[in-house]
Amino acid sequence: MSASLTAFAYLVASVCFIMALRGLSSPKSARMGNIFGIVGMIIAILTTVALPSVTSFDAIVIGIAIGGAIGAVIALKIAMTALPQLVAAFHSLVGLAAVLVAGAAFFSPEAYGIGTVGHIHTGSLIEMSIGTAIGAITFTGSIIAFGKLQGLVTGKPLVFKGQHMINLGLGIALVLVVVWLAATESSTAFWLLIALSLIIGVTLILPIGGADMPVVVSMLNSYSGWAAAGIGFTLANPALIVVGALVGSSGAILSYIMCKGMNRSFFNVILGGFGGETAAPGMDDLGDRTVRQGSAEDAAFIMEQANSVIIIPGYGMAVAQAQHALAEMVSVLEEKGVRVRYAIHPVAGRMPGHMNVLLAEANVPYDDVLELDEINSDFASTDVTFVIGANDVTNPAAKTDKSSPIYGMPVFNLDESGTVLFIKRSLASGYAGIDNPLFYKDNTMMLFDDAKKMCENIVKSLKGGGH
Ligand code: NDP
Repeated sequence: MSASLTAFAYLVASVCFIMALRGLSSPKSARMGNIFGIVGMIIAILTTVALPSVTSFDAIVIGIAIGGAIGAVIALKIAMTALPQLVAAFHSLVGLAAVLVAGAAFFSPEAYGIGTVGHIHTGSLIEMSIGTAIGAITFTGSIIAFGKLQGLVTGKPLVFKGQHMINLGLGIALVLVVVWLAATESSTAFWLLIALSLIIGVTLILPIGGADMPVVVSMLNSYSGWAAAGIGFTLANPALIVVGALVGSSGAILSYIMCKGMNRSFFNVILGGFGGETAAPGMDDLGDRTVRQGSAEDAAFIMEQANSVIIIPGYGMAVAQAQHALAEMVSVLEEKGVRVRYAIHPVAGRMPGHMNVLLAEANVPYDDVLELDEINSDFASTDVTFVIGANDVTNPAAKTDKSSPIYGMPVFNLDESGTVLFIKRSLASGYAGIDNPLFYKDNTMMLFDDAKKMCENIVKSLKGGGH
């Protein structure tokens, strides 16, 4: 393939990736966005394989076959609720790939046209060391994020004395090693760079608490993009530079949007130890507080009488896979003349867009699904709010309790709503590990059951069959 044809093909692939990002910005166009992404990636891979510098195809074909098969099996098997940790695991591989490519370029620079051993161009050494550092930080950081999301590492912030000073010291040491490596091409400096970066990945992510994991995953996504872009410079591959920069900047923008969604600053997230696993009270140790419990029949009766119902889905809906039963419940209510809308919090569930994807799977019309700020002023005129498997995103402590770890996060104005129905299995806390005062309010009715079972029973009651 001639150089100009290669450049043109990479340009087309880059445009496809930009269209993919554009498509993914709305649930309506997300499917099209994915198709653009797939087409762009096919063009990019074929163009790279057709480069004159590629002389043997065996390893490439075997790699694509093994990697593709593993990817396909994981994609088919993965549960929706485990997607965030899968994303974290995949980011770690991008980081590792960046380190391995940099290692190959460092020890065989001739193969990459960046000089000879002992005489690698200074510019290439700088690019390589930055790519290696970000890649290694992404690698271990993503493994810790995976462990936290999978429950293998505690979701509590692991804060220790002098933690910020240690991180600062490690950061300064890293910069010095980059300078040492660029000046001397010492292989000791190269290994030290990798070791320091791997340690920073751990010390940076370990202190961050569970409730901030969405931002962390998105931030690591951004890092993995910059690592890929850095390696794109080493390999002189424009497609990798463009794609890396797109992933890097879109991840950074998403992190920013999520910080805004939680009303936190980016530095507060990175530096703060936030979120935890404090147990919520059991039914026996409520003190003077009382909890009003109801049944599926009670819920059906209350909603039938309502003019307007808002549904707030959360992580528990995903766990129970209750979206289809919920959509059926809504269509029965609509047949009965009740106006029903869905309200989505920016960090509901365990990944951005989690609830939107589940509702789309159940064919809920996009126009009935509203964002927090689009619907938050409507609670005052709403008869019933139906909270299904959500907890933290409804917690009024975010507005009233300055000592709460979620203080400042925007939450739904449920205090203004009429009756609030809450489906969950117990009084247990959500991801941030804190009790929810809303459970004990007079106008709240708790519906203790699995979300899917409860919706199915409400449908039976609405249809007059009882259960
Ligand atoms: P929460 O984690 O606050 O609460 C979910 C609730 O669902 C739990 O309290 C649980 O209560 C209930 N539940 C679990 N399984 C079931 C089931 N089978 N049937 C019925 N209920 C069930 O979820 P939210 O969506 O309200 O909030 C999201 C939280 O996750 C926020 O703290 C956010 O910061 C964090 N987060 C968000 C990410 C994102 O990008 N969206 C990523 C990672 C974390 P019980 O056990 O009593 O049933």
